[in-house]
Amino acid sequence: MQAPKMPGNPVFASLGTTIFTVMSALAAEHHAVNLGQGFPDEDGPLSVREAAAKALIDGPNQYPPMMGLPVLRQALARHARRHYGLDFDWEREIVVTSGATEALTDCLLALLSPGDEAILIDPAYDSYRPIIEAAGAKAIGVKLDEDGWRLPLDVIAAAVTAKTRLVVINTPHNPSGRVFDRAELEGLAAIVRDNDLLLLCDEVYEHLTFDGLAHVPPITLPGMRERTVRVGSAGKIFSLTGWKIGWIMGPAALMSIIAKAHQFVTFTTAPALQIGVAHGLDHEQDWYLALPRALQARRDSLVKGLGAAGFRTMPCEGTYFVTADFSPLGINEDDVAFARRLTVAQGVTAIPLSVFYGADAPTRFVRFAFCKKQATIDAALARLAAMR
Ligand code: PMP
Ligand code: GLN
Repeated sequence: MQAPKMPGNPVFASLGTTIFTVMSALAAEHHAVNLGQGFPDEDGPLSVREAAAKALIDGPNQYPPMMGLPVLRQALARHARRHYGLDFDWEREIVVTSGATEALTDCLLALLSPGDEAILIDPAYDSYRPIIEAAGAKAIGVKLDEDGWRLPLDVIAAAVTAKTRLVVINTPHNPSGRVFDRAELEGLAAIVRDNDLLLLCDEVYEHLTFDGLAHVPPITLPGMRERTVRVGSAGKIFSLTGWKIGWIMGPAALMSIIAKAHQFVTFTTAPALQIGVAHGLDHEQDWYLALPRALQARRDSLVKGLGAAGFRTMPCEGTYFVTADFSPLGINEDDVAFARRLTVAQGVTAIPLSVFYGADAPTRFVRFAFCKKQATIDAALARLAAMR
């Protein structure tokens, strides 16, 4: 039997396995402390898990409505009003998805047409680019500045062409740890408005900001309500990353098209988990608002230890990631080789940053996750201290 000449879509055939899976497997193989893939090592609120467990036994267990269970869409509308003063019509303007990954895919498939261009801020979360390309569009990467990961507004403005359809912004930003400030986001919003573009906002870390910084959803900025969609994730809000419950909120005119992508990507999402998340949004606000306080202390200890080990850490204002420049260590290898060696020889796993770029990637940064018990961070730091 002959193998097929064309084994698959080149967008996917040419891809490797995601860096998170690769580095977690390497960490397991070498018994390394895994500060690579971003998942908390303590599960979120018991009451959320209990509400989901009860629903799993009592039902419903058949297909929920395509847009999501009303109880969750209503809780999401209340959440947006409570935290940001936003008003969404839960029936027409909110769709529940199987994680933010699906939400982003639905939005990109629904909003882009073949030949369009989408502007990405590099380093960009790794799912955006392949989905843009699978939609037949072109991803145009614009790099954050490497001194402080600030948004280069002039470069973004210059990247707009007649084919540009949308910009993807992620704030708080993975992997950099930046929380873009109001002035940066207003500058971005002006570019989007002036060029009649759409803005896709990945806000999965909306509640993970530190040092009293406020997350600004770009849809709240003047003139942005009708041209912005925002994506969220219960996995991040409630430290339940395996649940894969996400959502999309935006103007009805865009949401009706996005819902049509969603209906053929997954159609719907496990009802018991939706019930758990609805319970959490309404009753576990204290829990999710306390999480950044706990994480901030872990960030501080990780930043201090990385500094003592000779890394130059970059500003970390949100998410559960800190990026570090390892060039002060005098190491003569790129970030992929360094991250590999750090796992194999030092027993600490980090994520190389260059994999999140389309082109011209810097190769001197790695990302460490601090959504881990203090003892886990201490164990990693002890191993890194032994490096010098
Ligand atoms: N966007 C960003 C920036 C993320 O870090 C993640 C988390 N992996 C996702 C999207 C995907 O979220 P989910 O696990 O809900 O699919
Ligand atoms: N978002 C997580 C991270 O950035 C991992 C997601 C995944 O493993 N796909 O580490």
